[in-house]
Amino acid sequence: MSLPTIDHRGPEFAALGLKVLADMQKIFQTRHPVMIYPASGTGAWEAALVNTLSPGDHVLMYETGHFAFLWNKLATRLGLKTEVLSLPGTDKGVPASWRRGVQADLIEERLKADTGHAIRAVCVVHNETSTGVTSNIAAVRKAIDAAGHPALLLVDTISGLASADYRHEEWGVDVSISGSQKGLMLPPGISFNALSPKAIAASKTATLPKAFWAWDEIIEMNKTGYWPSTPNTNLLYALSEAADIILGQGLEVVFARHQRWAAGVRAAVHAWGLPTQCADTSVASPILTGVIMPEGVDADAVRKLIYERFDCSLGTGLGKIKGRMFRIGHLGDINDLTLIAAVAGCEMGLKLAGVQPAGSGVQTLMDHFAAHPAAHAAAAVPLRKAA
Ligand code: PLP
Repeated sequence: MSLPTIDHRGPEFAALGLKVLADMQKIFQTRHPVMIYPASGTGAWEAALVNTLSPGDHVLMYETGHFAFLWNKLATRLGLKTEVLSLPGTDKGVPASWRRGVQADLIEERLKADTGHAIRAVCVVHNETSTGVTSNIAAVRKAIDAAGHPALLLVDTISGLASADYRHEEWGVDVSISGSQKGLMLPPGISFNALSPKAIAASKTATLPKAFWAWDEIIEMNKTGYWPSTPNTNLLYALSEAADIILGQGLEVVFARHQRWAAGVRAAVHAWGLPTQCADTSVASPILTGVIMPEGVDADAVRKLIYERFDCSLGTGLGKIKGRMFRIGHLGDINDLTLIAAVAGCEMGLKLAGVQPAGSGVQTLMDHFAAHPAAHAAAAVPLRKAA
């Protein structure tokens, strides 16, 4: 990233542009165009909507957590008519729908009732970063097809891509949205839209205002490895390196590594006797685990203590679940030992906050790693290139 910034209109640049575009197609698992924006994930959320929809279009959203909630808010501000499908009921102050993945059958039922095909798009989040719950995207596609409905499928995989299994083309997603700062192990500042031919066709007639985000000029210029406006060249250097690491290891190896970390952290949380935010292990996130605090314990006070005493920064509860839970991230450029250290920080912090763990999460995690050797030893697939 600290290499000199080359001229983004010069001849050298095209090789970099074409390489990262091809790499991202491999990571999204698609043959179709991938847009790369110099923006955070929120920009790519907006890009997906303004390229495919028109003012007042009816969009079906599913609230699995805070990021689904925020995407809905953004869509409303753009002038879309959103409808939120969510499960009723709460579980000790935690909304039920924020503890489980998308129920595709509810989407199918709603689309079947939409006989006039007013709903133009279905928006779902693949990995809810606020809760640590994933959703079965292939099942959502099947539900849309079973309803015989033409709605587009837009999927936020901002924190899912390059950590959890994700297949843009095979799963029939029309626009996949992602960002640089999660599984790609980069600083924030680039985000993506992976497109389907149906999404590209929709963009030709969609009338929400767009200029910077418009796919047409980007697709045209990307053919030769350039962008219409200034790309963040240094982050593209880093993206190229990250893609070499991820594709060099193989996506399957990357996905298995995150699943193994996640299973270990869940076992540690359960050893403490605490519930995970995700109530359905079959959709538990490979990327992060939410830990629900006992009644009356402020999760943010526990986080603050762990940060101040042990220099370990945990994710806060967001939106409706602020103060009820905290999040342990287990993605990207970490290893077994850094994760054991993070869990040790949590365990010490819980005790200092007066939450007596039922058992040792640290010991459980160490036992888990010892009993489940990584399919590929770190030395065989280094996360860092030799200098
Ligand atoms: N969607 C999800 C699932 C996220 O995790 C995030 C950020 O963490 C966003 C959307 C928003 O992206 P950004 O903060 O990069 O604009």
